[in-house]
Amino acid sequence: MKVWIDQDLCTGDGLCEEIAPAVFFGKDDGLFYVKESADTFGAEVKFDGEGSPAGAEGMARIPDNLAEAVIEAAEECPGECIFIEIE
Ligand code: SF4
Repeated sequence: MKVWIDQDLCTGDGLCEEIAPAVFFGKDDGLFYVKESADTFGAEVKFDGEGSPAGAEGMARIPDNLAEAVIEAAEECPGECIFIEIE
C-alpha cells in the first residue's frame, strides 16, 4: 500500500495524525503530510532535506501493520484528501 495527501484539500484538523501518528504529521504551515521515513516505509519518497514533500511527491509505502489505520484515516478525513494506492 502507498499513501499520499493532497494538501490543497487538507483542512488541518489533524484527524489523520490522531488515528495514525506513525504515518501522518502536521507541519508549521498547518497542513498534514505523510512522514518522510525511507527507513520505515521504503525509499519511495526522495528526501530533499526539507522534510516530507507535498502531494503525490510525498507518496510513501506503508507497512502492512499500519494499513488498517491508514484506511481508517482516509475514511474519516474530512477533506477527503488522503489517497491510497494498492500495490
Ligand atoms: S484528516 Fe485529512 S483534512 Fe484532516 S488533517 Fe489529515 S489530511 Fe488534512
